[in-house]
Amino acid sequence: MTRMGSIAAEAISLGQGHWAQWALAACVLVILFGLWRYVRLKNRLGSRLRAAHSRIDELSGRDALTGLVTRPEFEHALDEAVQACDRGTRKLALLYVGLDNFRPLNDGYGHRVGDAVLVEAARRLSRQVRGEPRASRLGGDEFALLVTADAASAGRAAAAVLEALQQPYEVEALDLQLTASVGIAVYPDHGSRPRLIGHAAAAMRAVKLGGGGAHALWDPAMDVDMREQAELLQELRHAVERGQLELYYQPKVDARTMQVTAAEALLRWQHPQRGMISPTIFVPLAERYGLITQIGSWVIEEACRQAAAWRKQGLRMRVAVNISGHQLRQDDLVQHIETTLHRHGIPPARLTCEITETVAMENTSVTRDAFERLRRAGLHVSIDDFGTGHSSLASLRRLPAAELKIDRAFVSDLATGERAHGIVQAIVQMARTLGMRVVAEGVETEAQRDTLVALGCDELQGYLFAKPMTAISLALWADGDGEQGPGGVFRPSLFDPTAPAPLDS
Ligand code: C2E
Ligand code: MG
Ligand code: MG
Repeated sequence: MTRMGSIAAEAISLGQGHWAQWALAACVLVILFGLWRYVRLKNRLGSRLRAAHSRIDELSGRDALTGLVTRPEFEHALDEAVQACDRGTRKLALLYVGLDNFRPLNDGYGHRVGDAVLVEAARRLSRQVRGEPRASRLGGDEFALLVTADAASAGRAAAAVLEALQQPYEVEALDLQLTASVGIAVYPDHGSRPRLIGHAAAAMRAVKLGGGGAHALWDPAMDVDMREQAELLQELRHAVERGQLELYYQPKVDARTMQVTAAEALLRWQHPQRGMISPTIFVPLAERYGLITQIGSWVIEEACRQAAAWRKQGLRMRVAVNISGHQLRQDDLVQHIETTLHRHGIPPARLTCEITETVAMENTSVTRDAFERLRRAGLHVSIDDFGTGHSSLASLRRLPAAELKIDRAFVSDLATGERAHGIVQAIVQMARTLGMRVVAEGVETEAQRDTLVALGCDELQGYLFAKPMTAISLALWADGDGEQGPGGVFRPSLFDPTAPAPLDS
């Protein structure tokens, strides 16, 4: 073959190679496109099918998850019941039911468990109205029931509803327990037909605000409260950026030496018009409406900054912050605390995280993980308001906490009740067995102090020693310029090294 010929042959074979590659690529593209179309079509058909199912449920007037009647159907039943009431002499009560703390359960165990609880709760409610279309799921974890009753018998019906809902829920080998809040509006006593649902809902929210697990009749004051709350919430959204939040600090003292061991940071809201607002009012509001994460972050930052400033002045006590359940469920809480501590040069064991017993005992994987991460980070964990929840020794043993804080209620009952004495004694013994320190809060009298010391408490906190005060006041007080309290003996010792925390390295 001539040289020209061989070049031509090479070009042809090369060209054929390219063609083959192009053809292969085109085939792959066609297959991929086909696959993509198939998946899209399948998804579209799936969601159309689901939409069709819920549309069918909707048309049949039934909630797809629980099988209870939907809101339009319920409103229809309400219209008929009101007309029947108008014709006769009997009264009608609307019970608005909200499950307490359903959200953490749903977040912690997942939606499958949450859905199963809702289905079971709906079944129990349906039984209360004997299967009539008088029970409805109005949304999320909220239900409504219609019963023929006056105010007194509606109260009994609500008590029966609460009793039924707080029986254990056995879901996926879990044994869950919930309480509920019930608001009652009676027709015609508590308003005309259009206002009935709104009034019962306002009563339910008032019950929730008071801690839940109860029922209440609607009261005109509840509407005002709700309006005020809505206003307060709007203002709270801006409180951090407007610099209206402040931390007060209350010392904890060593029960034997009266040396100051720590200072607990307690939030205060200096409202420009309303004056100082207590955390018992705005912290629950912040928790319910998702503001606690932002406020909690500010508390951690501010407490660490203050701890560093005090260390520079020679004050070496631990600083404690209160952590709410919502914060504990935040994925990056521990990392956030660690970063803040590091930035301010504070060793982790010098920061105490106070977590209430009720939150600590929420036995979800999320709570357990959070506690484990706090332990690994070397933070000092304290179980606050201890004795009010339902801890078992077994569940306490699993928690890597260093401190139990006996609830104020037991301390104030010490003088009057044998029972409180026995409870404090039992808590101290249990803490000893588990290697935890015991702090008694709310110590107001010398008699209480003496009893608590005799019972073996490690640390005390309360108005007897000092009320919560600003950081500046605390430094002045420590310096001898502040008010002389009955615990004056321990004041100068504020400058001494503090008692070591059990997790101190
Ligand atoms: P807590 O953590 O159990 O705080 C103790 C409460 O008892 C404080 O009320 C304190 O001022 C009060 N107290 C202390 N000693 C005595 C005493 O001898 N007698 C009486 N009668 N009361 C005493 P405060 O500051 O109103 O706080 C109430 C609750 O608000 C706290 O209870 C805590 O649960 C919550 N809280 C406060 N600050 C924060 C915060 O930064 N974050 C979160 N999540 N919650 C906070
Ligand atoms: Mg506390
Ligand atoms: Mg407490």
